Amino acid sequence: MTRKQISRRHFISSGSLLTAGLSAPRLWSGPHPATGDRAFLQEFHYGDVTLESELHNHQLQENISVLMGLSEDSLLKPLRAMSGQPAPGEELGGWYWYDPHFDGPAPGWAGFAPACTFGQWVSALARAYAITHDEKIRERVLRLNQLYAQTITANFYENNRFPAYFYDKIVCGLMDSHLLAHDPDAYRILDHTTDVAASHLPGKAIEHGRNWRPGKDDSYSQDESYTMPENLFLAYQRGAGKRYRTLGAQYLDDEYFNPLAEGKSDFEGRHAYSHVNALCSAMQAYMTLGSEKHLRAASNGFDFLAAQSFATGGWGPDEVLRAPDSDEIFKSLTGTHSSFETPCGAYAHFKLTRYLLRVTRDARYGDSMERVMYNTVLGAKPLDRQGHTFYYSDYNFNAKKVYSDRRWACCSGTLPQVAADYRINAYLRDPQGVHVILYIPSTLHWTHDGARITLQQRTSYPFESHVEFEVTSSHERDFAVSLRIPAWATGASISINGKRALEELRPASFAMLRRTWKTGDHIELDLPLTKHLEAIDSQHPDTVALLSGPLVLFAITESAPSVTREQLLAATKSGESSWRVATSGAPLKLLPFTSISDQQYSTYLRVG
Ligand SMILES: [Zn+2]
Repeated sequence: MTRKQISRRHFISSGSLLTAGLSAPRLWSGPHPATGDRAFLQEFHYGDVTLESELHNHQLQENISVLMGLSEDSLLKPLRAMSGQPAPGEELGGWYWYDPHFDGPAPGWAGFAPACTFGQWVSALARAYAITHDEKIRERVLRLNQLYAQTITANFYENNRFPAYFYDKIVCGLMDSHLLAHDPDAYRILDHTTDVAASHLPGKAIEHGRNWRPGKDDSYSQDESYTMPENLFLAYQRGAGKRYRTLGAQYLDDEYFNPLAEGKSDFEGRHAYSHVNALCSAMQAYMTLGSEKHLRAASNGFDFLAAQSFATGGWGPDEVLRAPDSDEIFKSLTGTHSSFETPCGAYAHFKLTRYLLRVTRDARYGDSMERVMYNTVLGAKPLDRQGHTFYYSDYNFNAKKVYSDRRWACCSGTLPQVAADYRINAYLRDPQGVHVILYIPSTLHWTHDGARITLQQRTSYPFESHVEFEVTSSHERDFAVSLRIPAWATGASISINGKRALEELRPASFAMLRRTWKTGDHIELDLPLTKHLEAIDSQHPDTVALLSGPLVLFAITESAPSVTREQLLAATKSGESSWRVATSGAPLKLLPFTSISDQQYSTYLRVG
């Protein structure tokens, strides 16, 4: 959400960055053929997908259980206090606490962003209700919205360091409450919020670090109004009213988007998560207004981001985006432990790649989503009841998986949303059928041409290469099942009912299986989990990460092991989700991010 003062200074001095050779991004040169008819792939409903993966399900249960366990008075306390109302109950503390005397950085930044995660928590609960249909969750959503409605005052926004950030998140919470938890008052409360908030927002997109509020100190200059259009456009699409379309257009950050749309990187020094999140606003500007310029901005922005990402798919060390060809990503392997703001970054990344997939049907966005999921946020430490939050993934050569000292930080708002959204990321649809984006054990239910259809996916991927699907259909129906073939999956194969289908499978594309499907039809997909090495950048070809398919294998080591490329590529499995590399010394153990607990690890190794 923000970066430390030290990295703001770093931002100012970043004009002196050396140039080095990250691979050049592929630039968008014009409208994609698939967008000609504006036929976007559609999202399924949260309840259409049941996940049967312990890792994914556990993350949602843990997060929702923490949110359900918090006292309502505690949740409302900063909202009431900032509105000048009686505010009984315990403080949650950390970032959530309203401290009228907040005076800049303190340990853990306590009091930094009071109530800022409230809207995200309401959103996550509404999404959890849509998944579980647990009435207790719905009751909590409706009650929180009613209690929140009593705190909507001008004072709240005047006392708020992040009026646009708060507004953005509460728009999301209330529209999810309307759509997913069927809160009959949600849009009335949203309109009331907008009536009060509008005159306390900057009126246009204001960049991070610019103080637009006279009489306020520097801590009031880190708001993120440029992320608002996405949720405003979605609120408009979901029937909240035309004013949200107008407001969305009003806050488009064309100072940021215009150079990107022309294929020029506009990233250097920008706050990472919020500017990747802002690319989601550019996508929704395209999807709502039809603005090709904003599609080009988002698409080029994704390419610039991909070119400066770690092998895990994460990006933005010290929360800062870099110039193209910068060697700052390499330097971060020794210079910081704050390598990737994981829950917030993954949340923005999943939305961006989902929108890009919906518009372009380009499978590489699914590859990117998959990398970020398996190598970063799925391995996040769980949010706990004291607000301990997993914030940064650490890609330093001497790395540990640790909680941040920032309790109830921004990442405690996004992690529960991420955990709910695996379902809507996994499958997309169009009138012809379904696209399988993510390989996760799961069951998808939908209706096609009057028939009730179930697609059950069984797999231990990405630890095994094999994925199976079984179709159940109330009637025989003609439709397409399109399977993502990752870019690394050379030699992938598909069979239907035991017979090889589609001899030529092109990596980095969707394999479309169109036929008349009936109950019992069985698809087998094999994605050979090729081992490959990825250098941190082209200037440092000997600093590499080892991957098995989409999975980064992290070396569990407290020293810099002496190892060769050949030895790494010959890694063998030593358990269900562990690998072993023979070296001239002791064998090296490697684990995926989801299996690391407290051991010291290294994402990259120097090879001889
Ligand atoms: Zn965060």
